[in-house]
Amino acid sequence: MRRAFLTFAQGTAALGFSLLLSGVPSAHAWYDHVVVMKWIQTRLEKEVPLPVGNWSDALPSDPTNEPPRLRARYSEIASLLLLQQRAELKSAEAKTYSELLRIAAEDPDHGIDADLPDSADPSDDRRFMGGTKGPGSQGFRHMYWSGWNWRNPISTFQIPTHALGQSPDRIDLLANEARDKIRKGDSVWGLRLLGWTLHYLQDLTQPFHTVQFPSLRMTPLSSFLFWPPTEIFSHVIQETSRVVTNYHWAYEGYARYALLEAGDASPFKDCFKTSGGSLLVASPRDLALEVIDRSIKRAPVVGSSLMDFVGTHLKESEVNIPLNPKQVDNDDLLKNPNREAARVRLNAETCESFRLATDASIWLVRWAFAK
Ligand SMILES: [Zn+2]
Repeated sequence: MRRAFLTFAQGTAALGFSLLLSGVPSAHAWYDHVVVMKWIQTRLEKEVPLPVGNWSDALPSDPTNEPPRLRARYSEIASLLLLQQRAELKSAEAKTYSELLRIAAEDPDHGIDADLPDSADPSDDRRFMGGTKGPGSQGFRHMYWSGWNWRNPISTFQIPTHALGQSPDRIDLLANEARDKIRKGDSVWGLRLLGWTLHYLQDLTQPFHTVQFPSLRMTPLSSFLFWPPTEIFSHVIQETSRVVTNYHWAYEGYARYALLEAGDASPFKDCFKTSGGSLLVASPRDLALEVIDRSIKRAPVVGSSLMDFVGTHLKESEVNIPLNPKQVDNDDLLKNPNREAARVRLNAETCESFRLATDASIWLVRWAFAK
């Protein structure tokens, strides 16, 4: 009986998520990666020398980096790594090694993981993580929910309770492919794959990518009043997903605005400059799991301070931030003195995420270049 209930609950939850998330653009951690990469690279390029020349050198004239050979080479790699053949490669515009790494870190949000065949998702994770079609269908490779853990029953609460998502596996696979290419002297494609790997790693430093519900306060209580009663559960899940998505987008929109608009005066600029301490891990997979662990611990504080900072109006039924980003006033969030206390709390947590993104990125590049 209990088993039957769980199956029903999981089924309705899946329906709720798929219905909700398949129709909206997918969320991007920190909005777009070139913005954070610019800051990360300032430290990275000082600490890690490129094995071939300098970071600012022009890319070698490599026929596999010129269209249409670039597309043919991508097609081979896409077959090998189970990627979407039709994806756009932003990194084709890169002129230097430094640009290649930076722009490649943006590539995975332009379709390489979207609309894949079912064979790429044997555990059927997409059913719970954005659906199988459209921009949301890439989420299963950009997020990882490690499963309900009785030691942290609230912060790890999720439906279903088992681990979902491919992020650590993809990081391991792509990092090894990148290192292999670099060792064989294929620096252009090696760096491109390394940039892709950095993307997934940086996604995991955003707590919304490592837990399903950063704060249970995000559940709109009004959603429990629904008719007919047999559909209350799926309605609550659907409404909670909408609200979590609103806060997810509001958070990344604010972080991006604060990084870009404030420029050198950004409240986050110092977060990229110094290390938060050594990352004592042995492999890219262990690195991903360490980042996930830290983000799960940070999630409840981020979720709750974000609600205090932005306000609870994102729970209202007419609010949909992915479709109407102007429903959040980023300038007011950044400057309004009345928000100072909540802003300081949220910025401190966000700063730790950016510091971790920088440390983890440097760890991975160093690992890929090690002899
Ligand atoms: Zn992503």
